[in-house]
Amino acid sequence: MKLDRILPFARRLLEKSVAAGDIAVDATMGNGHDTLFLAELVGDSGKVFSFDIQQAALIETEKKLTEHTLNDRATLSLRGHEHIKDIIPESYYGKLTAAVFNLGYLPGGDKSIVTTATTTISAIEQLLDIMAPEGIIVMVIYHGHPEGMLEKDELLSYVESINQKDAHVLQYRFMNQANNPPFIVAIEKR
Ligand code: SAM
Repeated sequence: MKLDRILPFARRLLEKSVAAGDIAVDATMGNGHDTLFLAELVGDSGKVFSFDIQQAALIETEKKLTEHTLNDRATLSLRGHEHIKDIIPESYYGKLTAAVFNLGYLPGGDKSIVTTATTTISAIEQLLDIMAPEGIIVMVIYHGHPEGMLEKDELLSYVESINQKDAHVLQYRFMNQANNPPFIVAIEKR
């Protein structure tokens, strides 16, 4: 297949936006795959700020970073992404070039702990405020579970309402796949 599948497409967008020395955000740390990926992109002089509300996610992410000796490049917070502005120092505002959200529940974890539209939207608003122009927010939306369906609907109506003078909003979605496959919404700050 020549078309990028969902996760590779998300990674391509992140690769395009993040250069060495940049600041990046993993808004939903989970098992740490995206934190590790971003830590590789930001290089020695950059920084990744990662968020999750589950201790299990922090432990797993810390383990992955240790395996690759990249711990110095990431700050892991046991806080919701709705606290982004409380955690990221103001000196980094304007240097933040990418953020990623993998919505839903922790794979292999407690399926009752899921992301919700209210905190996701609050985090997007904060990011749009502090990101560099052309900074990209990549969201992978999983809507195969009931709460995910609700989150998807609320999120789509929110992102559709973002003024086109403030950001470009893209949806990347396979339209003929069964079982509510995940899709991407990407927001590029103008
Ligand atoms: N990107 C992750 C990876 O590489 O494994 C997968 C993320 S998983 C699909 C979603 C994560 O979001 C869960 O670990 C869950 O605990 C977390 N989460 C739920 N609400 C959150 C919030 N308000 N802020 C940050 N993380 C949250």
